[in-house]
Amino acid sequence: MFELKDVGHVYGSHLVLDLPEYIEANPGEKWLLRGPSGSGKTTLLHIIAGLLKPSQGSVHIAEQDIYALTETDRDRFRGQHIGIVFQQFYLLPVFTVLENLLMAHYMAGVPQDKARVQQMLATLGLAGREHAYPSELSFGQQQRVAIARAVVNRPQLLLADEPTSGLDDTRSKQVLDLLVSSAREVQATLVVASHDHRITDSFDHCITLDEQVELPA
Ligand code: ADP
Ligand code: MG
Repeated sequence: MFELKDVGHVYGSHLVLDLPEYIEANPGEKWLLRGPSGSGKTTLLHIIAGLLKPSQGSVHIAEQDIYALTETDRDRFRGQHIGIVFQQFYLLPVFTVLENLLMAHYMAGVPQDKARVQQMLATLGLAGREHAYPSELSFGQQQRVAIARAVVNRPQLLLADEPTSGLDDTRSKQVLDLLVSSAREVQATLVVASHDHRITDSFDHCITLDEQVELPA
């Protein structure tokens, strides 16, 4: 489903990521990107998402070398194949819940499917909230809208950044179960970046990132 070849990333002269390996994930697998804060988890997640071209190496998603695409084509590819739950959610504040989800169809250039959106909202316990604005929702509801938006286009790859940070044990488990079941429903590969030790058991594969790697002088 995704393939990473020798991926590395440098910000300025600061080497933040160095994966001198070939890593291949298959459809439906559950991958954990773990490591301490600052170890490059978000950087790697964004690289896999097609949001950040790595300084070295290549990334294939569904056989496509994503950084060989133009930026416009990559945006469309991402919309159609990849769902992302950002740490800060990034719901569009001037749009309702329904509009936020329909926007995901629009951005991906796929026909709007209101029935699918309504069914997803019901599954996620958000029925009746479709006309609410993000600011009118609780943190947990906003997070579920963000998950719904990430899976509405039936992505092959579902990515989430620190989805359980700041949540108590019960909520942490609920959110993780929701990500796992949402991924399973669309048969997506799930990739979660997290420093949360509580969630390790939910994954069948992991990439462990080390603390800062320094460039040789
Ligand atoms: P994690 O998600 O594991 O906490 P990040 O990927 O956010 O780690 O960051 C890894 C390292 O890269 C950190 O030292 C961070 O300060 C640095 N970093 C992250 N984003 C940028 C950026 N846009 N420019 C420069 N340095 C960055
Ligand atoms: Mg991070």
